[in-house]
Amino acid sequence: MKNYWLCLFTGTSWAQFLSAEEKQVGFNKTQIKQAQKISKGDYLIAYLTKVSRFVAILEVTDEAVVSDEQKWTEGLFPVRIGAKVIKQLPIPSAITMSAFLGTFSFLKTDEMPVSGVWSAHVRSSPRRWKVEDGEAVSVFIDKIIESGENPNLKSGVSKQKVSRKRGDLKKLNRVGSLIRRTKKLTLDEFDINPTTKVLSRNQVTGYAVNFPIQKTCRPTPVCKDTCYFAVKLNASIPALTLQHRNLYFCQQDPEEFARHVIYEYDNAGLNYLRWNGGGDLFDEALIAIEYIRINRPDIVLWIVSRKAELAAQLHFHRNHFIHLSLDRSLIDQKSQIRSMFKHDQVFFSYQVHPEETVQTSVVENVDLIFIT
Ligand code: SF4
Repeated sequence: MKNYWLCLFTGTSWAQFLSAEEKQVGFNKTQIKQAQKISKGDYLIAYLTKVSRFVAILEVTDEAVVSDEQKWTEGLFPVRIGAKVIKQLPIPSAITMSAFLGTFSFLKTDEMPVSGVWSAHVRSSPRRWKVEDGEAVSVFIDKIIESGENPNLKSGVSKQKVSRKRGDLKKLNRVGSLIRRTKKLTLDEFDINPTTKVLSRNQVTGYAVNFPIQKTCRPTPVCKDTCYFAVKLNASIPALTLQHRNLYFCQQDPEEFARHVIYEYDNAGLNYLRWNGGGDLFDEALIAIEYIRINRPDIVLWIVSRKAELAAQLHFHRNHFIHLSLDRSLIDQKSQIRSMFKHDQVFFSYQVHPEETVQTSVVENVDLIFIT
């Protein structure tokens, strides 16, 4: 009998697995004994940790080997198993844990239990799963592939959110309010010194380099109404001050700014950093990113932008991932935008407006959907 094993991926490691010619999954050295129990022909259940969803079933093609060859950006993971995809969903259609309520052997309840009850089953990998649980994932993936429908849209969650937000539309234009407030502040004189801090940290983006919306963004009508970065703590005076100071610093001396980014990246022990947790690219930011590419090619940057013409000027680097944000005002231009890039390290997200019912064709055309 073929066994099912849970295999954890982040969005980055999943993208790297899919794009690799020699497809392997990797585990830490401590998992070697467990990995050696996996046989050729066994199945791996691919689970995305950050979004907590099942995305694919893989089949093991080669049993465990140990290798020190650097293959992935998020770690060495020296214990490696060859695997091929046998069924796969696009990330927006990947299946939530709650879809298996009443089906999985550890979810035989009427209501979804708190995450502590089921998270132990997806906490580490490789982890042997009961065959019936693995088959439940496999069958569910088949159903979605056959129907061509996205179960996450069918759940009605987006519709509920749309109707809840419709009443609040007058209160939107978050970006307009932020810009009006920013204009009232004095934010143009900064003392830059060797200890000037440049990174920020929050629950949505983790560690990020942020710049001010007011001076760097080209907001679309959708981002004006939905921008998460224009509200709450990101719009507080200390946060705005740091964003404007970053802009001033980077424009004055992009290389020194990059050295501060590198210093804080190392000091915080990061393994990736988001560039533009808020704000967007500008000429000197490109110079700072290039400086990091040349001097610290090991640093992993997730570069978010709505300015494709600037993002396309960055040189390809295997550790730099370009994330382009689209919405209904830009989706028709996706092919044209994609053609500006001569490499594959480009990902597209789509921000749904509260008034919008998102089309399946859109969901299938992007890597990530945001519903505010
Ligand atoms: S580009 Fe991003 S940060 Fe800037 S206004 Fe739009 S959503 Fe907000």
